[in-house]
Amino acid sequence: MIKVLSKHIADKIAAGEVVDRPVSIVKELVENAIDSGANSITVEINDGGKSYIRVTDNGSGIGKDEVETAFLRHATSKISSAKDLDDIRTLGFRGEALASIAAVSHVELISKTTSSLSGVMLNIHGGNIFDKKSTGCPEGTTIVVTKLFYNIPARLKFLKSSATEGSLIIDLISKLALAYDNIKFKMINNGTILFNTKGNGDRLQNILTVYSKSISEHLMKVVGENPHMALEAYISKPDFSKSNRKQQIFFVNGRLINSKVIENAVEEGYKERLFEGRYPVIYVFLYIDPDMIDVNIHPNKREIRFHDESGIKSFISENIRKTLLSMESMPEVGIKNISIPVSENSFVLKSEPSLAVFDSVVREDSHAYISDIKKLSSTILEEEAELEDVLKRRVEENPQLFHSGEQETWVSKDNSNNFFKNLQVSGVVFSTYITGVFENNFYLIDQHAAHERIFYEKFLKEYHSDEKIHQTILTPIIKEVPYTLKASEEIWVSLLKKSGYNIESFGTKTYIINEIPVFMELSEAETVLDYFLDNIKDNRDIDNNVKINKLISRSCKAAVKGNDKLSMEEIKYLIKDLSLCENPYSCPHGRPTFIKMSKYDIEKMFKRV
Ligand code: ADP
Ligand code: MG
Repeated sequence: MIKVLSKHIADKIAAGEVVDRPVSIVKELVENAIDSGANSITVEINDGGKSYIRVTDNGSGIGKDEVETAFLRHATSKISSAKDLDDIRTLGFRGEALASIAAVSHVELISKTTSSLSGVMLNIHGGNIFDKKSTGCPEGTTIVVTKLFYNIPARLKFLKSSATEGSLIIDLISKLALAYDNIKFKMINNGTILFNTKGNGDRLQNILTVYSKSISEHLMKVVGENPHMALEAYISKPDFSKSNRKQQIFFVNGRLINSKVIENAVEEGYKERLFEGRYPVIYVFLYIDPDMIDVNIHPNKREIRFHDESGIKSFISENIRKTLLSMESMPEVGIKNISIPVSENSFVLKSEPSLAVFDSVVREDSHAYISDIKKLSSTILEEEAELEDVLKRRVEENPQLFHSGEQETWVSKDNSNNFFKNLQVSGVVFSTYITGVFENNFYLIDQHAAHERIFYEKFLKEYHSDEKIHQTILTPIIKEVPYTLKASEEIWVSLLKKSGYNIESFGTKTYIINEIPVFMELSEAETVLDYFLDNIKDNRDIDNNVKINKLISRSCKAAVKGNDKLSMEEIKYLIKDLSLCENPYSCPHGRPTFIKMSKYDIEKMFKRV
């Protein structure tokens, strides 16, 4: 039943609905349609909604004797007491929208409930009832809004062009169509049907219908659940990103919201998978116990408050991270990426070798290359057995170096373990890219990015572990530092000690290092040391995990050199070490370690299929 809320409750409700432009009207009308239980909603607009807005639903309808009440301020059927505000399960609850819309336009409402034989039609002009009569109509509600802002010319002047206002509406309906995958949405703009979703619960299909096939091809599905919340998300693979957050769309309990908390969670989930300044495309559908959020904090309800922000954040970021660790997230050089100029979205592909690689391999040294491969593959089998032994020993001797201790990571890495075990390495091109085949795909592994990733993870593990594993060096490293550094000694000396350096003061501003971290070569250890000392000057407050992580990741970049010619044995070690990484698919700075190309795409390029 629609009742006018008492002043006491009305006052508790966050300030009024904002009816400032066509899209806000469409939003309110469509939300009402959703709340009415409809499974089919049509939105039609002309001139960006300025001259005509129609929203038709097949929901519950409004009873004949209630239609006038519905247009009164603070009249709602959705809550009745202040307590209800803590457990809101509908999109509307303030009872203000219809009143606000009717006050600034001409509204025609046609509605019929299941129980009544005929429907009702009500015309309101600027808040005043103009006409009411019985009419034949299907079940559900149609609201037509014309002459928008006819009585507030100032507001009319502030509206943007019809194209702009219209695109806001189309964008909104596109998003709602995704969120409400069980509702059929039809969008009509100036007499043309733009899209028609099926309402069959297939979100990926909806993304394809509403957005484009090209986006949906780059998306991976994320699902997660705990006793209080459930997540469904579609996230872009790391090789498909944008320069802004415009395509990050968040729904919480079906409500389209802006949220810093979710933005941060997304960023955290993609940590080390994207370059700085790049943003994934992501559609988040979060369902959460209504009593764990407060939706009554913002005039147009675009923001909500989570009672447990950090819980939400880690739930979302963990689920994203897990999905990104699957093989599916690996960048793929598809036939399209090669024949069509790459878009601004595919920043990875721009710098990828694409056809040029194969071209120059064949022209420059095809004979040497083929005989190399033959030699290599005959030694692979012998080395395989030997390598297994060596590795087993290394793992037994230094278990901390190889196991993250998180059982879960290992379970979720099943598919990648299988990949690493069975990848058939065939050689190296340009002294940089290891080539290999697994199942029906051809892979290029950037040895430099891979090495950086391995180095970085070992470094972090060392840094965070209680027991440091040093290796003694024959000739100690002697370092003299400026007086400024001497003064902040206690900060950086302990940082180096934590990283596995045994460093002692040795004279006024000289230090002696006779042990270095076990996983570093001497030259690497020296570079890292220099890098630390050079960069610590401006970082007096380095005792902060984010900064330390940054310092470590940058120093890895400095320490690991590219273009080293690796022996077959070294390649096998590298790949084995990579397989033991928690995140083997990108370097710490977000560059991919792997790219793949399917056999099918190769055959297509040769016009075999
Ligand atoms: P609220 O949605 O906050 O309750 P509104 O002003 O948007 O307030 O709507 C007032 C009331 O009118 C709603 O509570 C609902 O009972 C009724 N109503 C509005 N639109 C529809 C619709 N499309 N179908 C059924 N009932 C509706
Ligand atoms: Mg409403």
